[in-house]
Amino acid sequence: MIAYDKLYIDGQWVEGTSGKVMEDACPMDNSVLYTYKAASKEDVDRAYEAARKAQPAWAATTPGEKAAMLEKLAQAIEEMSGEIADLLICEGGSTAPKVGFEISTCINICKQAMKFPYLMRGETIASDIPGKQNFTFKNPKGVIGVIAPWNVPLVLAMRSVVPAVATGNTVVLKPASDTPGTAFIIGKFFEKAGFPKGVYNAVAGRGSDIGDYFVEHPVPDAISFTGSTEVGKRIGSTAGSMIKDVSLELGGNNVMLILKDADLEKAARAAIFGAFFNQGQVCMALNRILIEESRYDEFAKIFIEAVKQVKVGDPHDPEVFIGPIISQTQVKSIERYIEANIEAGATVALEGHTEGNYIYPWVFTDCTNDMPACCNEVFGPVVCLLKVKDEEEGIAIANDTSYGLSGSVFTEDLFHGMEVAKRIESGMVHVNDQSINDEPHVMFGGEKMSGVGRFNDHWVVEKFTTEKWISVQTEPRF
Ligand code: NAD
Repeated sequence: MIAYDKLYIDGQWVEGTSGKVMEDACPMDNSVLYTYKAASKEDVDRAYEAARKAQPAWAATTPGEKAAMLEKLAQAIEEMSGEIADLLICEGGSTAPKVGFEISTCINICKQAMKFPYLMRGETIASDIPGKQNFTFKNPKGVIGVIAPWNVPLVLAMRSVVPAVATGNTVVLKPASDTPGTAFIIGKFFEKAGFPKGVYNAVAGRGSDIGDYFVEHPVPDAISFTGSTEVGKRIGSTAGSMIKDVSLELGGNNVMLILKDADLEKAARAAIFGAFFNQGQVCMALNRILIEESRYDEFAKIFIEAVKQVKVGDPHDPEVFIGPIISQTQVKSIERYIEANIEAGATVALEGHTEGNYIYPWVFTDCTNDMPACCNEVFGPVVCLLKVKDEEEGIAIANDTSYGLSGSVFTEDLFHGMEVAKRIESGMVHVNDQSINDEPHVMFGGEKMSGVGRFNDHWVVEKFTTEKWISVQTEPRF
């Protein structure tokens, strides 16, 4: 694998100046892929200054010029897909379906964003003041600081970076410490596509060292954060104290609600994907499956048999669906939830086990919503089955969580499924599908502790732009 060991600032590949050497580790065996010199606060200053300097000229390019550059960005990703796959597997432990998802979604994000420069529209608004003409103009916010997590590192960075750039902003990205390479390979895309220097910049260092500084910095006009609710609260309060705009895409505790008329075979197949895609390390992953009691035993049997067929192992193997967990820290965190759930009285219906960073899937039955693996985001290949008396109880339990990101309802009555979906308090609900869905042209976002802000299409254009009112007085008013 290529070592992506340099920061990308003002179109230059430079070493971090903090004096700290950080390791990028491979989740398959925890071996060190490469080391890099972490960014200092001065590097953050340099990156933000480069972005600030580049922004007016970039904003002044025509929509057609921006769209052409975004097309080249999509081409660069396509041409570098082998290199990207290597990185996502070695650095992130991504399986083949996950690699395919990340690359194709990134290309689609760029293609979708080609229309964003043309959405920079304003209005003319009639005035009650004689002789006044009112106009509104949509402008880029300026400089956007993007903070990305490690679990889907390329897509979750690009879904902020690309729309921000498409609407005339410039960007500095800070990746998670476990996946620094993705921020730097994005620099390669921008370089290959021929973007002006300073439009995209990337700095990597520990969140605890440069994270607060990255958010508090006076240059960024908005912070786009994707990560845990815990860190999101801190970023939201810091940004709030500075009256700085922020979008927060945070954790989830998502359900599949299986109604008594559901096709259980279809539900079980979908649930495998929803619970175990990317080893369960997805904000939209299924944590809880709620089944109406008349079909509970039948579903549990079908589902457990299906889970036994899921292949765990080296993500280079295209048959593998569950690869390694990102780090030993995360392995330990998942194991703590498993132990606590057993102590709380859940039945181990399928016993997994751990080999290094590989966790074989666990299925718990006889769960109640207060059990540790039910009321927390486990972020691993662990799923809890809960028996519910009826649909009403199912909806109540689905909503009995502080999170509200995604969800799923299974029923053969599609219209009724939609009515149930409306009552589930989350930003996204999928009828007869599992909870992990993201299409670059469809709204994405959560409710409650899962965040504030919306991604994709015109929703994200609103996030990265601001409106200005200009009026023109054509006859004396006073
Ligand atoms: P995390 O919150 O630990 O880290 C996210 C990012 O924040 C990293 O880049 C980290 O370095 C940085 N960070 C840490 N402390 C910081 C600080 N004080 N200031 C600024 N930045 C700081 O999350 P993670 O473990 O990388 O990712 C997993 C979490 O992300 C899960 O909770 C998951 O549900 C959530 N997530 C949400 C979405 C969504 O769209 N809602 C998508 C993916 C992941």
